[in-house]
Amino acid sequence: MPSTYEVINPANESIVETVNLLGLEETDAVIAKAAKAFESWKNVAPGERARLLRAFSQIVTDHREELAQLEITNSGHTRGNALWEADNVANTLMYYAAAPERLFGRQIPVPGGIDVTFKEPLGVVGVIVPWNFPMPIAGWGFAPALAAGNTVVLKPAEYTPLTAIRLGELALKAGIPEGVFNVLPGKGSIVGNRFVTHPLVRKVVFTGSTTVGKQIMVGCADQVKRVTLELGGKSSNIIFADADVAKAAAGAPGAVFDNAGQDCCARSRILVQKSAFDTFMEHFEVAVKKFRVEDPNLATADMGPLISKKQFDVVESFLDEPVAFKGSAPSGPGYWMPPTVLLPKNTQSRSWREEIFGPVVSVMTFEDEAEAIAMANDSEYGLSGSIWTRDVGRALRVSRGIETGALSVNSNSSVRFWTPFGGFKQSGLGRELGPDALDSFTEVKNVFISND
Ligand code: NAP
Ligand code: MG
Repeated sequence: MPSTYEVINPANESIVETVNLLGLEETDAVIAKAAKAFESWKNVAPGERARLLRAFSQIVTDHREELAQLEITNSGHTRGNALWEADNVANTLMYYAAAPERLFGRQIPVPGGIDVTFKEPLGVVGVIVPWNFPMPIAGWGFAPALAAGNTVVLKPAEYTPLTAIRLGELALKAGIPEGVFNVLPGKGSIVGNRFVTHPLVRKVVFTGSTTVGKQIMVGCADQVKRVTLELGGKSSNIIFADADVAKAAAGAPGAVFDNAGQDCCARSRILVQKSAFDTFMEHFEVAVKKFRVEDPNLATADMGPLISKKQFDVVESFLDEPVAFKGSAPSGPGYWMPPTVLLPKNTQSRSWREEIFGPVVSVMTFEDEAEAIAMANDSEYGLSGSIWTRDVGRALRVSRGIETGALSVNSNSSVRFWTPFGGFKQSGLGRELGPDALDSFTEVKNVFISND
């Protein structure tokens, strides 16, 4: 039975477009098409596959303005972010366009002949994307997957299908052959789940909630299907008294309220050394009040609305803890919420423990290095985090002490397309981006060739 989804602009609640959602039979038909396309795509000469990926990258760059506009309208992302996101897809494609000619195997010394390894593509790769960063998270899956010789079926989140659909059209225009990169708008329970159960889908790349991620892992076990998971986070921004406290405070709103806090890397726990607390909070309040929450089309916007009424209600449920101060937000239609700074009673408070995925941050103090590390590690998650100190030895000790996948020292930046990204503990499994991501889109084949 055909079904549809009305895409809503979260900044004003207007209907943007109605999208057809794929059912089970249509999903199976696309997967079969992708499996057929794999037979020729895996044999495309490395230089030619590289050329096609460069062409795909270029066409994304040529359409960056259009893609950014779609994301502003569909997701409420600020103009600055949306342009960065379109560029990130182009950059990730360009980075992995260098891979086909560099998918080196090894030659290993053996008696009686030679031994070589090949990195073989897997087949059809299923990429399941959440609504918070529709373009980059899609690209982190499909770019290395395609470069390694796989074909891709990609399911965008129901809320945010528009940029993915457009990227599918642009791929074809760039010359990527029919069936190689397929976008399937649909429900997680139907299209997403079919990636897990369909035997011709050989790997699932999932980004989203830890709850659904666990179900995907269980489902994939049935076929020993390869799986990469990028899940939730509850990351710490740790400020030592010896740091440039004013600079740490000035950067702290962006580290958690960027994308309205709907970011798995959001530094949603701030840990301040007790002796620096007052100074930090003074500067932090100024920075939060300056953080511009406004029409995301404006070049000055720091933050737009939340994605949906549902997400708004979830985030609002965290606001029953003591508030230190708030920023501002527009009133009227749209899922607007001011950035909010909480002072939880203790480390058992809900806001301290759970991923909120909204513009809410909790601040607590610590005495010393050991307590900071213990507080940061007191979480089932371990995705990102920041450490602010002028002491190099301390930066090193704390970096090594924290159980998390992507840390930054005197900075809040954790995502680059050329460095690895992923989580410890329940924040995920496997790594995306960087030089090694290709390993999770290939199988190693060992071949011994006798001298005889
Ligand atoms: P979600 O349910 O995990 O959705 C993520 C993706 O998985 C969507 O494309 C979704 O499709 C799909 N999906 C849902 N159920 C599925 C299933 N049984 N089998 C296969 N695919 C399935 O996340 P959400 O509901 O959008 O967000 C809930 C919470 O997850 C957020 O509040 C946040 O805490 C966390 N989250 C984390 C990240 C991250 O980057 N780590 C991203 C998003 C959300 P539909 O869109 O059709 O449901
Ligand atoms: Mg869900």
